[in-house]
Amino acid sequence: MELPKQGKSRAAITATLEEYRSGDLKWKTGRAFGYVYDPGHQAMDIGKEVYASFLTENALDPTAFPSLQRLENEVVGMARRQVNGDEDVVGTFTSGGTESIILALKTAREWAKQHKPDVKAPEMVVCATAHAAFHKAAYYLGIKTVMTPFEKDTYRVDVNAMRAAMTPNTILIVGSAPSYAHGVVDPIPEIAALAQQAGILCHVDGCVGAWLLPYFRRLGGTFPEFDFKVPGVTSMSMDLHKYAFAPKGASVVLYKNAALRRHQIYACSSWVGYSVVNAAVQSSKSGGPMAAAWAVLNALGDEGYLDIARAMKEATRGLAEGIGRIPGLRVLGRPDFSMVAFASDTANVFHIIDEMTTRSWYVQPQFNRSGSPANIHLSVGPTNAPWVEAFLKDLRESVEVAKTLPVSELATGMEAMFKTMDPADVSDETITQMMGMAGAGEGGALPQRRAEVNQILSAMPPALVERALCEFVNKMFRG
Ligand SMILES: *Cc1c(COP(=O)(O)O)cnc(C)c1O
Repeated sequence: MELPKQGKSRAAITATLEEYRSGDLKWKTGRAFGYVYDPGHQAMDIGKEVYASFLTENALDPTAFPSLQRLENEVVGMARRQVNGDEDVVGTFTSGGTESIILALKTAREWAKQHKPDVKAPEMVVCATAHAAFHKAAYYLGIKTVMTPFEKDTYRVDVNAMRAAMTPNTILIVGSAPSYAHGVVDPIPEIAALAQQAGILCHVDGCVGAWLLPYFRRLGGTFPEFDFKVPGVTSMSMDLHKYAFAPKGASVVLYKNAALRRHQIYACSSWVGYSVVNAAVQSSKSGGPMAAAWAVLNALGDEGYLDIARAMKEATRGLAEGIGRIPGLRVLGRPDFSMVAFASDTANVFHIIDEMTTRSWYVQPQFNRSGSPANIHLSVGPTNAPWVEAFLKDLRESVEVAKTLPVSELATGMEAMFKTMDPADVSDETITQMMGMAGAGEGGALPQRRAEVNQILSAMPPALVERALCEFVNKMFRG
């Protein structure tokens, strides 16, 4: 697009934007199981209003905007109490789970410089079920990631494998509460005990669930303790823009005490301009997300969250049980929260996904990785609750159709080829060609039916998929 010579009218601008949106995911229908966390409550509108009204205030300098200092302290205060953090527990408001995790790792790295000076090449041990954000953060920060297996039936961290993977260079170990992919809570007390014995840090990734899990417990959920009451837990990430239903750009990272959080804070006074001191990654930072998060937490309140959790728990149970009754499907692990992953031994899951897409549902593909078979992920929210029966009916039908559809020959061929080939020998051109053969076009276009692309990606080694995805995105954005 070229910058218009003359500014356009407000009406023209909003009309064009509405048209642009027409192809977007229709999350308002309640038929999307991912990406948007809709409380189905007027709290969402309050969040949007407050977001807009604080959008321009700048958290770069909280002394200039004391309202933002107060809002951050109050949001963190509510988050800390939610997970049994005592008066010593402190935290920082961030833009999302990834930023919270980057900061937790940065803090661990700096902490280790002071407390483990012999460690020259720091390592982090995470289970294969830990979120990709840990790999990304470690990559950004020069920390080595050591990945361990999960328990085959429960999809929880295998604590013995984690113990065996720890070395004198390990500075941090991680558990999820719950894991995103399978929605199970890891044995945090055992993981944290390992950290304590070794004298290292233990991060609990509560990005998706830490805010709402306490309500699942109050409603009778049985899963391991995961919060600051557990000895050895030193930090926790908790997204507010997921199941606390705040608008996007809202997460907190919490620490056991201020001495540990001190390692997170960065200052620079050696250039010619204003002195910089940032607790988090961003410097200029809109007040919108934190004011909006504050507003949503206050608008829903404890009772509002309990009601939402009840609806989610009921819907998740209905889905998991219903899926278990459909011939050929099986739920992976036992969901502790509001996420369900299921696989099929009789139909290709990527065909099932295409059939569900045709029936106006959004469900998420998860590839065959580290012993977790290719599967379908659902993140269940309150607005999905009225749709459980309709979803199960369409799913049953989709499985039947999928059984009749062929397995991709291209994917089968590639799988065989990659068994004998070093991924490093595959050129970028070959990768682009393979993606093209599967229907992924230039400029980020994907076919309506994606089973072929997904089967190929699922069959490829992760290192190759990573390259293919980077190539794809590099073509997708070119102004
Ligand atoms: C979503 C998620 C993250 C990453 O958070 P973003 O807000 O997408 O950056 C990390 N861990 C878990 C368990 C998550 O669900």
